[in-house]
Amino acid sequence: VRSIEALSELTRARGGKLTAQKLAIYRVLADNTSHPTADEVYSEVKQDIPVISLTTVYKTLNELSGLGEIKRFEINGTSHFDPDTRPHAEAICLTCGRIEDMPMDLQSLDLPRGFAVTGVTTSVIGHCKSCGGGSQ
Ligand SMILES: [Zn+2]
Repeated sequence: VRSIEALSELTRARGGKLTAQKLAIYRVLADNTSHPTADEVYSEVKQDIPVISLTTVYKTLNELSGLGEIKRFEINGTSHFDPDTRPHAEAICLTCGRIEDMPMDLQSLDLPRGFAVTGVTTSVIGHCKSCGGGSQ
């Protein structure tokens, strides 16, 4: 995700209304490294704006991921959101649910010829070190 200012600019440029609710959602997302679900974003925004609805949160998250401003990926059928849209993969622990970002070198991928990458949604699943994964 870009800065809150850039997002606000983008919203206005697209003719959308920049509401206090949207701003609060942007604020929760900016620099968020916890890969929150819509519910988690909702409960955090709610502390700022108690009247906000889960629907508004869903709509805003969908809009932002549709624009490529946030990355969306699924774990066990639940969507998680990541404001970091640089190419990277997530390592997901099946035991504790911990999600860690992994750098990913697009140059090292064997992409189909002429394929233009617009996003990467790679999830690597397994068990983290504290949950009995490998010793490395
Ligand atoms: Zn774990």
